[in-house]
Amino acid sequence: MRFFAIGFGQAGGKILDLFMENEKLRGSNTLKALAVNTARTDLMGLKHIPPKNRILIGQTIVKGHGVGTDNKLGAKIAQEEIETVLNAIDEMGTHEIDAFLIIAGLGGGTGSGGSPVLAKYLSEMYSEPVYAVGVLPAPEEGKLYSLNAARSMITLLKYVDNLILVDNGAWKFEGMSLRESYAKINEEIVRRLAILARAGEPVEEGLVGEMVVDSSEVINTLRGGGISSIGYATLPIQEKKKGGGLFGFLKKKEEQVVTAEEDRSTRISSLVRKAALGRLTIPCNIGSAERALVLVAGPPEYLDRKGLEKAKLWLEEQIAGVEVRAGDYPTRRTKHIAALVVLANVTDIPRVKQLQKLAAEAKEEVEIAEKERIEKTISLFEEEDLEPLF
Ligand code: GDP
Repeated sequence: MRFFAIGFGQAGGKILDLFMENEKLRGSNTLKALAVNTARTDLMGLKHIPPKNRILIGQTIVKGHGVGTDNKLGAKIAQEEIETVLNAIDEMGTHEIDAFLIIAGLGGGTGSGGSPVLAKYLSEMYSEPVYAVGVLPAPEEGKLYSLNAARSMITLLKYVDNLILVDNGAWKFEGMSLRESYAKINEEIVRRLAILARAGEPVEEGLVGEMVVDSSEVINTLRGGGISSIGYATLPIQEKKKGGGLFGFLKKKEEQVVTAEEDRSTRISSLVRKAALGRLTIPCNIGSAERALVLVAGPPEYLDRKGLEKAKLWLEEQIAGVEVRAGDYPTRRTKHIAALVVLANVTDIPRVKQLQKLAAEAKEEVEIAEKERIEKTISLFEEEDLEPLF
């Protein structure tokens, strides 16, 4: 799956930078990456997106200092400078790509306001699907972030082919502040995107995928303009060392278990279950998903067609719809078996409902505060009979 990815704003840029690093490390050069921001320092902090693929917008208005949490200003600047962004995309080349992927934090200003504008233009101008990865604010970030995220989400959903949500609140790591968790959350996001990017990619020399998933199957899974959540699970593979020492006999036993055909398939199907039932990028009711896609990656001797078929049947029972696609990707560049489950077009997402509620409250509070402020300011001058200058 060859993505043209645009990291919009701070979070979007950082996540894309890590995605780029990951792709380089695994020897893939298919990812096209462009970072767009109103804050100069955010762009300067990127390490793997080449400087020529970083665009600073809004210089005349915010002078490279960012828009704060004003996503209306973010949207305005993106709209005014959309030509610059579209030209950069065109110059980097789009003829070999399978889809666009806009990555942004939806609670802030630049990415929250700018990504729906970009999604609108890309969907009008290109036939390739436009996806967005939207990072939702954690509840502790306050109502303004919720309001921003809710507005951005509603607008994005008008233009994208799919919105993959990630909930910072659900992903904050135990004993860490949200800020401290960012790097780890970003790693988790990139792990999932990297597996998705492998769909339809030629496999390493000498390896054959048993059930190959093509990029068109990812596109078919994600069609329809809904919200998706991604599950993921990994299993370390045992080294094939000959067992010695105290636990040698145990290791030997384990090796036999590993190679047993029946068990191999059980292991794959339970890993897929673990991915679907474990921590999703946004917690949701899996029973409300319209479609699903399963991708398993790992060394070929650990992959198993029967296991994948079993997992597929199980997932068909779990989701609301019946379309489940499944495939594997053999690779020697890993010490894990990884299972990815994309739950497409889920409708039962408590956090989104909660965000809407918080956003409505925030909107009302902002309106009331503004009304009060105007009334109080006027009343300051009420008693004096003064004329304005002009
Ligand atoms: P922008 O630069 O104006 O688009 O604003 P940000 O990208 O900083 O968006 C703010 C939102 O993104 C907040 O909800 C933050 O919690 C979140 N955020 C900021 N940086 C990161 C990051 O590196 N990773 C993740 N997962 N979230 C981030």
